[in-house]
Amino acid sequence: MATNKELADLIFPDVKETIKDLEKRYPVRQLPEGAEVTRFAPSPTGFLHTGSLFTALIAYSFAKQSHGVYYFRLEDTDQKREIAGTGLDLVKQLKNFGIVADEGYYGDHEEGIYGPYVQSQRANIYKVCIKELIKKGRAYPDFCSKEELEQLREVQQANKVVPGYYGEYAKYRTLSNDEYIQLIKEGKPYVIRFKSKGNAENHVKAHDEIRGDMDLTENYQDIVIYKADGLPTYHFAHLVDDHFMGTTVITRGEEWISSLPIHLELFETMGWKAPRYAHLPVIMVNDKDTGNKRKLSKRKDPEAAVSYFLQEGYPKDGVIRYLLTIANSNFEAWMMENPKAPVSEFTLSFDKFSLDGALFDMPKLNNISKELLANYDKTTFTDECYEWAKEYNASLAARIDSNRDLFESIINIEREQEKPRKDYEKFSDVEEKIKFFYPEDYNALIKANPLPFNESLNHDVIKAVLDDFIASWNVEAQDESSWFNDMKALGTRHNFCDDRKVYKKNPADYNGWYADCISIIRIAICASTQSPKLFDVLKILGKEEAARRVEAVKAAL
Ligand code: GLU
Repeated sequence: MATNKELADLIFPDVKETIKDLEKRYPVRQLPEGAEVTRFAPSPTGFLHTGSLFTALIAYSFAKQSHGVYYFRLEDTDQKREIAGTGLDLVKQLKNFGIVADEGYYGDHEEGIYGPYVQSQRANIYKVCIKELIKKGRAYPDFCSKEELEQLREVQQANKVVPGYYGEYAKYRTLSNDEYIQLIKEGKPYVIRFKSKGNAENHVKAHDEIRGDMDLTENYQDIVIYKADGLPTYHFAHLVDDHFMGTTVITRGEEWISSLPIHLELFETMGWKAPRYAHLPVIMVNDKDTGNKRKLSKRKDPEAAVSYFLQEGYPKDGVIRYLLTIANSNFEAWMMENPKAPVSEFTLSFDKFSLDGALFDMPKLNNISKELLANYDKTTFTDECYEWAKEYNASLAARIDSNRDLFESIINIEREQEKPRKDYEKFSDVEEKIKFFYPEDYNALIKANPLPFNESLNHDVIKAVLDDFIASWNVEAQDESSWFNDMKALGTRHNFCDDRKVYKKNPADYNGWYADCISIIRIAICASTQSPKLFDVLKILGKEEAARRVEAVKAAL
């Protein structure tokens, strides 16, 4: 009768190392008490999903706030699903948000002594561990073909039993080593399965940092741990990696809760202490059509892809702050109390996580970003806006390039004061709002649409107001309030009442009240009924350009 060792040696003839050797190669980390070792472990299967940014942010924050280590591991064992180049993209996109690993995979190189940090390059490490499991009699080859597994599923469905490979349905579980060896020698393809000792009747207590103690059904499935392509499955790979890389707490999506009993049984069988687990809530949205909550979907929601926020020019810190409001219920209050503090001063905690699926709320993100952008000083605003524009809006970048001072004075209107003006939610709002300052755009604007003057106003009154406004121009020499008095006087000269109540009583006696008069000037200068503070706009444009605009408007009337 062949021994387990003979079977293991037949399967992995070249594997000479043992788990002990691996323990030596990857020593236990020496870190201060309480320091967390966390990781972000995505699969290179496409763009960075907003949920993944959330997951990475949580892992990063827990490591940073505890003076621990945050590392990046690429989980590419499912090579059929891999999309080339996306590993590097993920690293780059996270970097955009300031999430940079202390060690691990960086897209084009690796750093750290616990590597390799790309799973497909760790095949030997997994083989060492699986070989020992075979020796212990806790793993075996399974020769079922796809068709056989399909048949099994049909039988189980017909018998109304839980589908899967376990107990009496596990066809190759109870073969003798001689039989396994015989089949391998015949060249029959196989995978390797874990031999579970669990039972569907039993429950396991599992602790989750966010959910507390959970009562889950024990694992009893003989799951595949090693595939025919020579790589392990996620279940086994993450276990080995988190063990040797010294992860203290695994932060991952709640979709993994149901596999936790598998992982706990595997840890126990390997004789390793499992790290703590924190299963993070999945980000949800309210479906526009059905009104029901559902997962943020790549197909339906543009905000599911992190690239959306980058393209739209959301301030990165705004996105991070928004995600932290999803993470911890006390973050928003903290932000109100500490509006100027960097987010790194906030301490995340597992017990402040909300349990039900967090709802992605665009208006809230917009508000946070608006507030943040309003509080930027003009240099920061211009720098970030320029960085964004260089990539996503060439004409805005060209404006900044050709006259940065002009751009800064435009976006500085009502900025750097106690209650700054909240004009922009994102950098993609900027160009549309500032266009009118630029003469060529202004010309195009007044050509494209009739100016929105009040229709009841006589054109001669409009012209007279505009001529008088230029003739009596005195913007540069005054402060805002004396200029305002001049505007009232201008209105009075053209029969615009300087008192709203008086005007309301006898509207027929007047052309309007003085706000209507100022509106004529605003529309002529800004080609819109709305603008930032007109006094500031006029100061930036200067008399010559204002006079040119007035002439253009008069000619068009
Ligand atoms: N590669 C897994 C995923 O992308 C990682 C889960 C984990 O963090 O352990 O879902």
